[in-house]
Amino acid sequence: MKSGRRNFLKSAGALSLATTLPLSGCSSSEKQAPALIGNGRMKLSFRPYELQLNHTFTVAGNSRNTTPVVLTEIEYEGVCAYGEASMPPYLGESQESVIKFLNKVDLEQFRDPFMLDDILAYVDGLDEGNRAAKACLDIALHDLIGKLVDQPLYRLWGINPDNTPMTSFTIGMDTADVVREKTIEAERFKVLKVKLGGGNDREMINTVRSVTDVPIYVDVNQGWKDKHEALDMVHWLNEQGVEFVEQPLPKTAIDDMAWLTEHSPLPIIADEAFQRLADISAFKGVYSGINIKLMKSTGLREAHKMITVARALDMKVMMGCMTETSCAVSAASQLSPLVDWADLDGNLLIGNDLYEGMLVVDGKVTLNKLPGIGIRKIQS
Ligand code: MG
Repeated sequence: MKSGRRNFLKSAGALSLATTLPLSGCSSSEKQAPALIGNGRMKLSFRPYELQLNHTFTVAGNSRNTTPVVLTEIEYEGVCAYGEASMPPYLGESQESVIKFLNKVDLEQFRDPFMLDDILAYVDGLDEGNRAAKACLDIALHDLIGKLVDQPLYRLWGINPDNTPMTSFTIGMDTADVVREKTIEAERFKVLKVKLGGGNDREMINTVRSVTDVPIYVDVNQGWKDKHEALDMVHWLNEQGVEFVEQPLPKTAIDDMAWLTEHSPLPIIADEAFQRLADISAFKGVYSGINIKLMKSTGLREAHKMITVARALDMKVMMGCMTETSCAVSAASQLSPLVDWADLDGNLLIGNDLYEGMLVVDGKVTLNKLPGIGIRKIQS
């Protein structure tokens, strides 16, 4: 990246203006992969972009119409690879923090992009936190190695693409009329994820049930406070065709969560309670399973390890996402045949996607044969 542009992007005031600028790293995104790994250098470029949500998105704790992201590209030997960092406000990262982090990254010191353990250990060691910033590099690097050998990532990992799960579509908290309208709009999905914890939980579920009888996943986003009331509600939800409940109590209420999991007729899944691989070992007996998201896990490489560790602990695994373009959602989808449940609808909640990739066909995550993370740029 030219220093002038780097300085331009460093300026917080330039962020909104920069959303319309093209990325500078790739001269062409459609070149053929080189036959051999050469002596090229990986060139990283990035820019902020703002996702426009189709509906105001309300969960327990916040409400918003946009999500800030940073899009990355790595160009190597004429091949262009894509990555993305998504920063919903409650996770503490921002376009400014991601760009500050990416400005510290020197990928050109690495000659072989396949040395992902070395490269990502270097990235992880640059600073603590910055999980979404690290994820956008991890995603682009995985896209790159797939493109260099002209294979989808699922093939490199030995994953059967036919084993993808259904994905849920998320219904945020709203009035009964809007919930009914959103549920009707979501009729092509075979599973819905309903956000609860806003004080009108039974009305939300009853409204959805007045439209459809598809299975429901429930996400409370820490919105319930009392374990006994939570258990009563879980029993009621169990009778309404709900399959599991995600993060019912505050993440700090560990003893209450363990009690609820022990008594619950439904699996209790952790989301806000953890971020990365090292957090999971303490969850045995506290939660029934975990919701992995690339923006928490620092990307695909650690997410893959998390699935392995969770399985070793006999825990359920869900793959989720933030509001993201098809870039990060398609990346996560590459691992989805390994999980029990998927909530990979982030790209479907926005109106200004820049890529096409994973498709939802008859409600099922459907992987294509494109190399890497399986996306194609449709708009600059
Ligand atoms: Mg959640």
